[in-house]
Amino acid sequence: MIKKEVAVLVQNDVLSEFLQNFFKNIKIYNPRYYKSAQSFIRCITRKRPLAVIVEEPLLAVVSDKITRFPSIAIVTGDIKKGVENAVVHHVSRYIYKPYLERDLEYKLESIILGKDLIEKMKNEMQELEVITCVTQLISDSLDPKEILFKIVEQIAKIMHVTRCSIVRVDWIHKNAFVVATFEDPNLTGIRLNLKKYPEITEALISKKPVIVDDITTDPIMRKVRDILMQLGIRSILVIPIIFREKVIGTLLLRTSRKGQTFTGNEIKLLNAIANASANALYNAFLFEQAEDEKTRLEKLAITDYLTGIYNIRYFYHRIIEEFSRCQRYSQSIGCLMVDIDHFKKINDAYGHKTGDRVLKEFAQLLKKHSRKSDVLARYGGEEFIFLLPQTPLKGVLQEAERIRKSVKDHKFKSMKYKRGLTVSIGISVYPHKKITTHDDLITYADDALFTAKESGRDRVVVYSK
Ligand code: GH3
Ligand code: MG
Ligand code: MG
Repeated sequence: MIKKEVAVLVQNDVLSEFLQNFFKNIKIYNPRYYKSAQSFIRCITRKRPLAVIVEEPLLAVVSDKITRFPSIAIVTGDIKKGVENAVVHHVSRYIYKPYLERDLEYKLESIILGKDLIEKMKNEMQELEVITCVTQLISDSLDPKEILFKIVEQIAKIMHVTRCSIVRVDWIHKNAFVVATFEDPNLTGIRLNLKKYPEITEALISKKPVIVDDITTDPIMRKVRDILMQLGIRSILVIPIIFREKVIGTLLLRTSRKGQTFTGNEIKLLNAIANASANALYNAFLFEQAEDEKTRLEKLAITDYLTGIYNIRYFYHRIIEEFSRCQRYSQSIGCLMVDIDHFKKINDAYGHKTGDRVLKEFAQLLKKHSRKSDVLARYGGEEFIFLLPQTPLKGVLQEAERIRKSVKDHKFKSMKYKRGLTVSIGISVYPHKKITTHDDLITYADDALFTAKESGRDRVVVYSK
């Protein structure tokens, strides 16, 4: 059994003898005797005893240092004056002559018990406060990310940790993501390499809190010790967040202090917070999934299924926007209509499937040779369309020629003998007296393409009527 430490400041010989006998009989305490106030004070600040006993006339020297400890004053001289002095200095209890061991034993026991109770109540109050606060947060906000951020903020406030995060675990892909960290509300979605977080892995496997009091000595931290030391981290606490019997994430707390950093009470409290966060974390995960799905569908809606480049729907959306912008600011805008020459022959010779593959390769080739500001889309069949915002005729012509040549020089992998293809390109450029709408821009590029086909293919024609 660990004996309870009691610091004793006593100079009077009779009293000293009484106390030594007392502690010899009552074996549950470990007394430390001091004759000088200085060494007594040094002891209580460093060793933090459970209680202190002070010879009453010495109270004046040490009273402001013992306020945090349960204390007993022992009156040695005049009883009336001594009691008065003890009361003035706010000691927890006092005794006077005749000194009775039973009296001291009872008083010592009751002040220690009282202090324990107060501490316990304080902890429970704090616990209750935090849980109420977290529950409130969860019912107040609809955004799960905001909830999770507020939870880490609360934890950081009560725990005084260097870093505190909520990590979401994706079992299927064996990934982990930081979904909330109190340093920055916007810092979310960062992927963690679980190999660098053995403490998280341990919590995932054991489904229990993992406490690393000192990373320099804990064997599970062996491989990552040096990196963490550089970050100034000494202790770590991981609490699993469990939803429907499955660990869906963890609370991850890291601090620069070492040893005895996380008390049993704190761990209990964090477990309660982890329980309260489970729903929010699961919702955040569902929300994220829905967002991903939305992004995927949005992308799908504007992508051509065969070639993977934009479809005509997206092109229309952009040409309306870009055309009116160029009109407003009197800027040039060009349109290229690109059609593969004799593509039917490719289908006839190699079959439709190969034809598809050629189209895919062709689309990638166009994409490679387009500029970042261009909008390239599949217009339909083997026809492709380019929009060149803020580009005058000269630039549009240059780009068209560049594309024509690069197609001609390309050996298509999808075809036997790596054959080449040629394209015909029709160009229209605004400003032009006949072009007043974005539809005109498309129509006249198409007309120019027709002329290019008529006049022999493998060429670029600018609409000029
Ligand atoms: P040109 O343009 O030089 O006049 O000759 P062409 O053979 O390319 O003629 P046209 O534009 O009239 O025909 C286009 C052909 O492209 C018809 C069709 O078989 C083929 N095609 C259109 N869409 C696809 C597709 O998605 N996959 C495949 N494999 N072929 C397609
Ligand atoms: Mg064609
Ligand atoms: Mg065609």
